[in-house]
Amino acid sequence: MSHGEENGSGSSTSSRGFGRRSFLGTATAVGVGAAAGVLVGRDSLPPGELAARQATLRLTGDSCTLTPPPGFPSGISLYQQGYQNWSTETVVDDVWTCAPSNAADVVAVANWAVGAGYRIRPRGFMHNWAPFTVSNTQTCASPVVLVDTTTCMVSMEMISGPPLAVKVGPGATMEAILGFLEGNNAGLASVPAVGQITIGGAMAIDGHGAAVPADGETPLTGQAFGSISNLVLSLDAVVWNSATSAFEVQTFTRSDPRTKALLTHLGRTFVTSMTLQASANQNLRCQSYTSISAATLFASPGSAGSQSFASFVGRAGRVEAILYPFTSNPWLKVWSVCPNKPLLSRHTTTPYNYVFSDIIPQSVAVIVNQIISGHPEAAPSLGAAEYAATVAGLTAFLDYDLWGAAKNTQLYIQASTLRLAEGGGVVLCKRADIQRVVSEFYAKYSSLMTSYQQQGKYPMNGPIEIRVSGLDHGSAVQASGAEPPAISALLERTDHPEWDSAVWTNMLTIPGTPYAYDFYTEMGNWARANYASYGAVRVEWSKGWAHTTAGPWNDNTALTQTIPNDFRVARTSTQNWDWALGVYDALDPHRIFTSPLHDTLTP
Ligand SMILES: Cc1cc2nc3c(=O)[nH]c(=O)nc-3n(C[C@H](O)[C@H](O)[C@H](O)COP(=O)(O)OP(=O)(O)OC[C@H]3O[C@@H](n4cnc5c(N)ncnc54)[C@H](O)[C@@H]3O)c2cc1C
Repeated sequence: MSHGEENGSGSSTSSRGFGRRSFLGTATAVGVGAAAGVLVGRDSLPPGELAARQATLRLTGDSCTLTPPPGFPSGISLYQQGYQNWSTETVVDDVWTCAPSNAADVVAVANWAVGAGYRIRPRGFMHNWAPFTVSNTQTCASPVVLVDTTTCMVSMEMISGPPLAVKVGPGATMEAILGFLEGNNAGLASVPAVGQITIGGAMAIDGHGAAVPADGETPLTGQAFGSISNLVLSLDAVVWNSATSAFEVQTFTRSDPRTKALLTHLGRTFVTSMTLQASANQNLRCQSYTSISAATLFASPGSAGSQSFASFVGRAGRVEAILYPFTSNPWLKVWSVCPNKPLLSRHTTTPYNYVFSDIIPQSVAVIVNQIISGHPEAAPSLGAAEYAATVAGLTAFLDYDLWGAAKNTQLYIQASTLRLAEGGGVVLCKRADIQRVVSEFYAKYSSLMTSYQQQGKYPMNGPIEIRVSGLDHGSAVQASGAEPPAISALLERTDHPEWDSAVWTNMLTIPGTPYAYDFYTEMGNWARANYASYGAVRVEWSKGWAHTTAGPWNDNTALTQTIPNDFRVARTSTQNWDWALGVYDALDPHRIFTSPLHDTLTP
């Protein structure tokens, strides 16, 4: 068994060539028509064989029909279903899956699992990169049952307050929740860009947006700029009662010290309901720019002018820069609070306005297929095609200047976009250091891209994405005794109260691209060393991290020391990483809510 398999990544992709699993996944990602020419690569199967297998197998592995888990509670819908995460890097065929109607069903399943020796995995839309649900080392024969919350546990109810809030089931989507809030003249200040994810999934991994207040902006009552997790006023979770020796639903409020371990929990518990703090809704204007060069936007602080990344953050607070590989001008989005429609803005009443990024243009798909079929050197062409498609799309759809109710520009990416592997991290820093963080990141990324290119290597063929959010502070929560989520990447650093900003950097590439793991490893190690003198680096739980040249979630030192240490600094023994792990074990002593990755990361 490889190191990666032990830790749950179980990747079948080498760092030198495209592997079978990534091949299949990416072929699926660019569509059947496009996939037809995609199926042969250096490490691939012979022509035709892959397509034949795709046609006969449900996903990529061997199909497997087993007798149902013995004694499973009757009356709860149970079936075998393939698990495939969004990037297609984690695939397990025919996993036993159930769809509970309510929290009582989840309790029944949990109590059954203890006696039966099964693990239970809460499941939303399977969009997470990090394998916190299942791993490639598991099969349909593994004693695990997925619990799909997306079908029945989707209720939504406004709580008029104060504080203004919404109570939701864990399977409700972010899109549904934001739409429901909008219908009640309410909203959230900072949310993930994607709407087809569950609130349960977003909360588990401290989902975040791209927003901080602009210079001089006074946030509305209820607005917070950290993670989704820190918006939770109270939650219901399925936890072990040692007095009755059984699982039951308990309610956790923010004044209960244990709650801070359950806000961001990486799937180490099962949340059946949560109440989120909200604010009055706002109108936002979202302007796109494609003519500012990366050199200007990411200039070093000494030479940064009014077109620098940090100056946009100062003026508007809400910024995202996307830079396609080997291109010179990023796609910059800048949102500003704007009560009334500016004359030249297009009024949008629906989210997902960037059709060109949700439906892959043919010009892009053709080059993706070239790369997958063994030509990673086509990466510069891919970047150029993506930039051209972006400029054309923004122009054709009148998308350069949008205005409307917040959610219609806050949600701007759909699951149908090109499926890519993603490495992610965040740097906590002073607001005055945002430009330094992004300029150093851009300089390092560019020089590494050049040095790999000079060796004939093209590990990164997707864009980089840079955003800024606030941190998680208890003071932002309208509940007495609130402490910030104990293991959120946005957890405040009380020893550095001046670190008030979080710069998120993501690097994307087609799953299985040769040398990608080498590149991620170098960038990850560089970031830890580079930012240590004026900030703190943490991993983005939902993405790829702890890379070695063998893959993500694979660096044993990172998994067992470096990352836990991130949540030990300036934390007491009743707040830190080890304490949080103790809470999970106390509430789930049989460790039924675990995946192989938890076994290493949260032993
Ligand atoms: C295209 C795309 C864009 C994205 N953009 C952003 C972004 O802008 N910002 C951001 O922060 N993230 C973003 N993400 C990441 C996304 O927020 C996470 O992957 C999220 O976890 C996905 O939710 P899901 O419903 O698919 O959860 P799943 O992938 O099904 O589950 C994720 C984890 O949550 C656990 N879980 C799910 N439900 C529960 C529950 N009820 N109780 C306990 N644990 C539970 C699962 O066990 C698993 O460990 C993006 C993802 C994609 C694919």
